[in-house]
Amino acid sequence: MTFAADLKAGLLDHLGPSWLTFLPRWDVQRRGAWPGGTPRALMLHHTAAAATASQNPNAPGNQKGANKNVIAFIQTHYEVPAANFTLDRDGTVYVHSAYAVWHAGLGTFAGKAPWSQLRIPKDQGNDYMLGVEIMSKGLSRDFTHAQEESLVFLLRACRQAAGWPNIGLLRRPQHKDWTTRKIDTRYTNPQITQMIDTHGFLPA
Ligand SMILES: [Zn+2]
Repeated sequence: MTFAADLKAGLLDHLGPSWLTFLPRWDVQRRGAWPGGTPRALMLHHTAAAATASQNPNAPGNQKGANKNVIAFIQTHYEVPAANFTLDRDGTVYVHSAYAVWHAGLGTFAGKAPWSQLRIPKDQGNDYMLGVEIMSKGLSRDFTHAQEESLVFLLRACRQAAGWPNIGLLRRPQHKDWTTRKIDTRYTNPQITQMIDTHGFLPA
């Protein structure tokens, strides 16, 4: 099995087909294989662009397809996608690529617990980590309930596909943990942990 096949199976097991959109060429290798065959973590980002910051699921901008311009930008603006996944405000997970793309940029986990354990070389985060762009204006803690739920299921899918023992802090660094150049996301790591606990109503 390739990692792409394992990822698809994990996504279907945890999110199900109605919450997934596989974009063209998602399973085509991009910047090379993952060292060792699997990614070591899922880095959390926000898009800093969205049609709305409202958390009301009925507000304009929170429906399926309302942010398709942002998703298209992430998919096509660069030579390879700018994330592995985009998590839209309605909870849909768009799958851009199963392989190493561009999202982390320059940075390091040296001296930073617990992520130094991942042994990712300085400035090589893209080669070792998946990245998810969570649709948000990035001005406040505005993730929707649907996004929170899908983020938990996405983490579980990645854990299954990559063989991680759990989805603890080690496996879900945020962009701002990698580099002081970035502020995403607006949530603290304890708040992300609480999000996982709150939505942990299905078997882990
Ligand atoms: Zn980011």
